[in-house]
Amino acid sequence: MDILTVNDRPGRYPESWYATTVDLPPPAPAAQGAVACDVCVVGGGYTGLSAALHLAQAGLDVVLLEANRAGWGASGRNGGQVNVGQRVEQDALERSLGRDEARRLWELGLQSVELVHALCAAHGIDCDYAPGVIHADHRARFVAHSHAYAEKLARDYGYDKVRPLDRAEIRDLVGSPGYHGGSLDMGSGHLNPLKYALGLARAARAAGVRIFEQSRVSGIEEGAPLRIRTEGGATVTAGHLVLGCNGYLGGLAPRVAARVMPINNFVAATEPLGAERAAALIRDNHAIGDSRFVINYFRLSPDHRLLFGGGESYGYRFPSDIAATVRKPMLEVFPQLRGTRITHAWGGTLAITMRRLPHLARLRSNILSAGGYSGHGVAMATLAGQVMAEAVAGQAGRFDVMARLPCPRFPGGRALRSPLLALAMTWYALRDRL
Ligand SMILES: Cc1cc2nc3c(=O)[nH]c(=O)nc-3n(C[C@H](O)[C@H](O)[C@H](O)COP(=O)(O)OP(=O)(O)OC[C@H]3O[C@@H](n4cnc5c(N)ncnc54)[C@H](O)[C@@H]3O)c2cc1C
Repeated sequence: MDILTVNDRPGRYPESWYATTVDLPPPAPAAQGAVACDVCVVGGGYTGLSAALHLAQAGLDVVLLEANRAGWGASGRNGGQVNVGQRVEQDALERSLGRDEARRLWELGLQSVELVHALCAAHGIDCDYAPGVIHADHRARFVAHSHAYAEKLARDYGYDKVRPLDRAEIRDLVGSPGYHGGSLDMGSGHLNPLKYALGLARAARAAGVRIFEQSRVSGIEEGAPLRIRTEGGATVTAGHLVLGCNGYLGGLAPRVAARVMPINNFVAATEPLGAERAAALIRDNHAIGDSRFVINYFRLSPDHRLLFGGGESYGYRFPSDIAATVRKPMLEVFPQLRGTRITHAWGGTLAITMRRLPHLARLRSNILSAGGYSGHGVAMATLAGQVMAEAVAGQAGRFDVMARLPCPRFPGGRALRSPLLALAMTWYALRDRL
């Protein structure tokens, strides 16, 4: 199944609420004929745009090839949470990788969030950033762990921006009967993902990157130089290649595809609720992610809508009624929204790895790839782009830390991988209800 085309109209941004908040730029030209550059970047999401921007700033001649539009993929449609740390908690990382490696990953996690802020400040990207992410426990038995984890981060990592929330506090901050406690992290926050992606694209262009849209890469001829071919018949000759295709990678790099599994997720926007009703749902404009395996994540928009992400679906085709798919968990969290209209609902494809850690790889001496951020990519993909740019320019220190993370293949080979994942996810989704 071709994930790049199965759920979306080629070359068109999805009809998300985010798309209504920006003046969508006219399409950039498609690549044509013979093009030469130092580095060719494939994919115009945070990974590719950040890589291209940093490579151009290092003085390299960069061409970026995007199959659709810049910010068309997960980067333009996600939940907008900018989370400190890795997708996997530090205590689990310490157990599996040792304290030193866990600490290095924590540092990279902090750097990723700092990088998002630095890029927005340096390039004038206004993407409605607001601080504060609540981790909300849907089972009382999970609360002790959340509190102990907040204390651990303060004690062992000197991180003082996260504080525990008890039942009364979380119910004061989030107008849902479903949460028993959790934590509030003021070092994390949320933003408008499409504004951020388009801002990165503007910055990359201003730094000299030649962005070609509607230029799907269909083949890579290895060697020095590399020859990268597009479906439209262009050939890009480059010294280096950087792949930032994440969930949409398909067959372009089979070694990566065996380790990085695409999954779909869905977001809905309600009609504007008015300031008062919105604040009754989320008092202080924080974003929330809950403790379910099939996670619910939600926040308010500046015009007082609820933006709610969640819903189960394990095939690669989006459900025919995405709004209904998301409405179900939304009403479980906020029963008071029964009767509230959903005005926009959309899906996107992200990528997970077996261990839920990003997968950075040097596929050949001159081909790098990054993806598999496992739902934690707003900041981490931006950082991965930067560390790939460093590695191309000869400083591979941070790239190597990330590239040595264990990333086993998904079992089952190509044919079995997604049915097996569907089975596993269904099991975990059932467990959420216990
Ligand atoms: C619904 C949803 C909610 C999410 N919520 C959050 C969240 O709240 N916080 C968070 O941190 N993360 C979240 N994520 C994950 C996050 O969006 C991703 O990790 C991140 O955007 C990945 O960026 P990327 O650049 O690697 O990939 P993408 O943004 O997916 O970009 C890949 C690009 O590559 C292009 N491409 C693919 N193949 C080719 C080819 N052959 N030739 C040319 N171009 C190609 C695609 O068109 C696409 O534009 C969410 C994801 C989804 C889908």
